[in-house]
Amino acid sequence: MKKEQNCPVIVTRPEHGISRKLMNPNALRILYRLKDNGFAGYLVGGCVRDLLLGREPKDFDVVTSATPNEVKRMFRNCRLIGRRFRLAHLHYGDEIIEVATFRSQAADEPEPEQAPETKPQAAHKAEHRQRHPRSLKDNDGMVLRDNVFGTPEEDALRRDFTVNALLYNIVDFSIIDYTNGLADLNAGIIRTIGEPDVRFQEDPVRMLRAVRFAALLGFTIEKQTHAALLSAADTIVRAAPARLYEEMLKLFFSGEAARCCDLLQRTGLFAALFPHFSNWLGTESDSFPHTRFGQMLDYVDSRIQQGDKVSPPLLLALLFGEYIDEKTERFRRQGLPWQQSFDAAVAEFMGETCPTVMIMNRVGIALRDIISQQSRLNKIPGRRPDSFTARKDFNEIIEYCRITRGNRKDVAGQLAWWTAQAEQQPVTLPSGPAKDSTAPQRKKKRQRRRGKPKVQETI
Ligand code: ATP
Ligand code: MG
Repeated sequence: MKKEQNCPVIVTRPEHGISRKLMNPNALRILYRLKDNGFAGYLVGGCVRDLLLGREPKDFDVVTSATPNEVKRMFRNCRLIGRRFRLAHLHYGDEIIEVATFRSQAADEPEPEQAPETKPQAAHKAEHRQRHPRSLKDNDGMVLRDNVFGTPEEDALRRDFTVNALLYNIVDFSIIDYTNGLADLNAGIIRTIGEPDVRFQEDPVRMLRAVRFAALLGFTIEKQTHAALLSAADTIVRAAPARLYEEMLKLFFSGEAARCCDLLQRTGLFAALFPHFSNWLGTESDSFPHTRFGQMLDYVDSRIQQGDKVSPPLLLALLFGEYIDEKTERFRRQGLPWQQSFDAAVAEFMGETCPTVMIMNRVGIALRDIISQQSRLNKIPGRRPDSFTARKDFNEIIEYCRITRGNRKDVAGQLAWWTAQAEQQPVTLPSGPAKDSTAPQRKKKRQRRRGKPKVQETI
């Protein structure tokens, strides 16, 4: 390992354990092609961090000295995307590898010294910059646009955390470290590059990323970074709601959702993101604390750690279902029938959540269906059981029931019946709400029905 003044730390191949065998072959192909065409090309960010930690990277990102158009000319499978950042996406079947040109964060930096310009030239340039600034911050210092090409060092310095700014050089297979990221990686520290207050102001989503990496990697957040996070937690609401939704999904699907939420709560981020839900979570209902949220986080973590997938609607139903149930009960007590109460409850939940964390409408509808269809499970065999088992979300409806009420004896019987029904196996009907448990199963003639069936039972 060597470091000269103003030079990065370089860790040579024999000094680190990253083998090319652990790398994505398409990413390697890209790096070699860039090199053969005379461009610099590095692996960067999370993949280098994870390879060094002996973890399997989620994705492989490449940075290069080639401009997006030069990348496009080199690769037939390239699509250029992005307005804020121009990026090259290289497509290999279902896989996409992102190739970005080195960027600098030159938003407020003066232009480099140039030969003196004539007045009209200077005026034209100034006007062009005003109309098409390549980088732009709002009045609060949040970066709105940032598309200035730079050097490898500048590219590393504009990244979020020191451990996310390491480069892998295909030329000599070394690791290049401009930010002291290796030392932080070895010490298990999440530290912003530069002033944490400024970096969180530029992009508040970095606070959620700090929490996710700390929880996922079992790292601690460095003292100043942590202090800045505490004082800036409320400003998380300045980030775009759609982006916050995507980031929340990453947290909940990280496999360490319980740890993430614990950190979010302790830093004030959770209350800023979900103020109403957070209030409710901190109070008791009928002298009982709300414990289901925590249990659901543990359940989702166990599924993800086993390599399973959980859909966003099921995730949200599991996490917020109890809260929505209580809202439904409140509307019921006001005299509304169940279906109307439930619809009002879901609408209220979406109305209070979406201005900050934008749950897409189609996800909201799917979440509503998973919960509202629970009452259908009580009716055995009910009308057209085959059409119920044929629903696209049948497995999610069953899973929601199993996780939230499956320990009840009557519910376990219902679940067994519906599961067997779905597998087309004849089974004995469980006792309980089923009316005709001994009658042989008869396939019912499909009937067209107008409108939605009215579900009146409570879940
Ligand atoms: P993972 O993919 O495992 O979730 P990652 O670190 O690779 O983690 P990505 O979202 O894939 O995260 O981003 C790739 C890299 O881009 C990061 O490692 C970081 O260097 C940089 N980056 C991502 N988001 C930001 C941000 N908001 N601000 C600055 N740099 C960022
Ligand atoms: Mg990544």
